[in-house]
Amino acid sequence: MPPSSTASAPDLLAGLNPAQRAAVTHHAGPLLVLAGAGSGKTRVVTHRIALRLREGLPGHHVLALTFTNKAAAEMRARVDALTGGASTSPNVGTFHATSARLLRQWAPRIGRGANFTIYDDDDQIAAIKRVLKAQGVGEKSVKPSEVREAFDRAKNEGRLPEAGDLPPTLLAAGGAGVADAYEAELLRSNALDFGDLILRVAQLLEREPELAAQLRRRWPVVLVDEFQDTNPAQMRWLRALSPPETCPDLTVVGDDDQAIYGWRGADVRNMLAFEQTWAGASVVRLEQNYRSTAHILAAANAVVAHNTERLGKTLFTDAGDGHRVEVEAFESPRDEARWVAGRVRTLCRDEALGPGDFAVLLRTASLSLDLEEAFRAAGVPAVQVRGRSFYDRAEVRDAVAWLRLAVNPHDDVAFQRAIGAPSRGVGETSLEALSKAAAEAQLSLYSRALMPPASIKAKARGALATFSSLLDEHRALAASQTPLSQVSQTVLAPLLEAMRAQALATRDRSEELAQRVENVERLVVAIREFSREQPDAPLDAWLERVKLVSDADAVPEGTAVSMLTVHAAKGLEFPVCFVIGFEEGTFPHARALRDGEVGLDEERRLAYVAMTRARQRLTLSWCRERRTFTETRHCTPSRFIGEVPTEHIEARVEPEPSRAVARPFGGLRGRSERSTRRSSDADLYADPVYEDDTGGDSPWRVGMWVWHGDLGRGRVVGVSRGVRTTLQVEFDGVGRRSVIASWVSPYDAP
Ligand code: ATP
Ligand code: MG
Repeated sequence: MPPSSTASAPDLLAGLNPAQRAAVTHHAGPLLVLAGAGSGKTRVVTHRIALRLREGLPGHHVLALTFTNKAAAEMRARVDALTGGASTSPNVGTFHATSARLLRQWAPRIGRGANFTIYDDDDQIAAIKRVLKAQGVGEKSVKPSEVREAFDRAKNEGRLPEAGDLPPTLLAAGGAGVADAYEAELLRSNALDFGDLILRVAQLLEREPELAAQLRRRWPVVLVDEFQDTNPAQMRWLRALSPPETCPDLTVVGDDDQAIYGWRGADVRNMLAFEQTWAGASVVRLEQNYRSTAHILAAANAVVAHNTERLGKTLFTDAGDGHRVEVEAFESPRDEARWVAGRVRTLCRDEALGPGDFAVLLRTASLSLDLEEAFRAAGVPAVQVRGRSFYDRAEVRDAVAWLRLAVNPHDDVAFQRAIGAPSRGVGETSLEALSKAAAEAQLSLYSRALMPPASIKAKARGALATFSSLLDEHRALAASQTPLSQVSQTVLAPLLEAMRAQALATRDRSEELAQRVENVERLVVAIREFSREQPDAPLDAWLERVKLVSDADAVPEGTAVSMLTVHAAKGLEFPVCFVIGFEEGTFPHARALRDGEVGLDEERRLAYVAMTRARQRLTLSWCRERRTFTETRHCTPSRFIGEVPTEHIEARVEPEPSRAVARPFGGLRGRSERSTRRSSDADLYADPVYEDDTGGDSPWRVGMWVWHGDLGRGRVVGVSRGVRTTLQVEFDGVGRRSVIASWVSPYDAP
């Protein structure tokens, strides 16, 4: 390490352990920091950037890639705090936002205008539906979402989708042309989907060495946080920007145990691939965890140790044993939610914590339903972190479609949406005719609407003409010097006017309609605020920001309990964490279980991420019963709970009315055992995994509870009658076992 670096910034290195310091001061080419959760990987990234700036490198020569906009903002703030804001700010952003910015400059090279629209998942689905229709493939033969997934998969792997990528059902239905037609549709619409943003940059950098060289001069220093979740397309992007043969100043930090985006094409093997691609890269391992107390860390380590494909790491903490991990069982999500809210209140009162110190981690966002109510009832401020949900509302999407068209009128998905909001006499048939004519002429709907085909009725042709000229006006307005807030107000006027009129006309549902009007008005306010923050930013900049918002971007600051998905909680930490819904089928998720080992391993990494967010207290809770839209599931605790050694667990065991055997798992008791017993009715257990055999006059029934001397409590999921009756029993915390019926006793008999 050059002596100057240490001498020039003693304070930057003072708070680091020797391994972290080695990583921060490393100067000889590519560096991989491979370390477990909470070991200071992100800290290494920020200190490394700060050190470079201290050494005199201007901030704009640094590119730091993070996983969410929120993480990017935090990183920028931390670097500023470390350097006192002395230099220009480094470029910190997500792969997607950075790619979008590059592509705005390079748009003509990929046949796009700089004002291209970014298609999100829903836009993609809309585009795919249009393509399927145009290709004469009924939606019955294939789910548009399946096609979207196929396209994404290909792009994440680093190539444009081809016929071979399409679902077999679609090919069988004669849809081989759908992949090309989809790309043509994006081209006509001057649009790019999420996968394109990354892929196109990678392709351009590979194809045009001069462009890559230029970018390398701009960003000689590159850092990537959460590297384990980069997909192959992002790897290519990085490789082209920082070619191994140039021995680039490229630092990546990551944890293979936290790879949780396999479904988006990320690959655990990335960490290995890094060492292969950037051969000779230095590797630093960080082994001290500064986040969690010992019981929490040991519990998380024990769970993830059950995965086989791991690079293997050691992780210790000096933080003391702390509290054991609490395991709680409840009858229903409502009980669980009430308990969590009550617990937050108690801890706030007794331990001088504020609501902002708590997080409730969810495997899927919908688990928050009961929580919201419970927190409200308990008077505890809580915020669900769902950055996108507002923008996913139908009326907000309508409004955004209008704004998109003001920037890019060729955006077919927005065109189709806006022309029906409010409806203006261009019916399904006319729109279909227009679509067909547009596709034939290789034009966007907007361009074709300027010369509508004769097959469209005169009235609809007139409506199309009015609509197009309205779009022209909006576009001119957006391109003028008019302030953004005024632009948005004018552009959204027709929509708002129609919605208000409808709200007045239909009194019975006016409540809901009024809410919708309010949402669109909120959008106008949001734009006004944005333009106050960034007075010169054009409408495109706002639209891009909206498109690239993700769940994790709306994490509230400090004053409320955060309810967030585990994916959104990546990289964050909280003094107290509750992981709720820790049941088989919920977490691990039933869908993942269908994918076998691969799916299960990823769920386990997700559990590891969840558990390692906690600093001082961690509670894992599960419910015996969980209702979804279609079924009531009777649940057993997540197998991951069973993977935590009992010495790290504090399980609340209620006094046993009859057979009082307190067992760590088999004996876990819910809050109101009696209600389960009463509802022990085989008809309720509709879950298809149960083999139903309730015939005969044997006392054994699928769905009933039984007690086994060694295995504890379980629920019968199958009955086989032979010479001896054997039962298939799902034991709490143990899993499914076959037992001879005479060895168990019915558990719900009083
Ligand atoms: P994750 O895997 O969850 O992304 P990470 O490895 O990026 O975690 P950081 O978020 O950088 O870890 O650090 C975890 C916590 O430990 C932070 O609160 C950080 O400030 C603290 N920390 C890291 N290194 C040290 C250190 N040397 N001394 C004191 N605190 C530290
Ligand atoms: Mg981190």
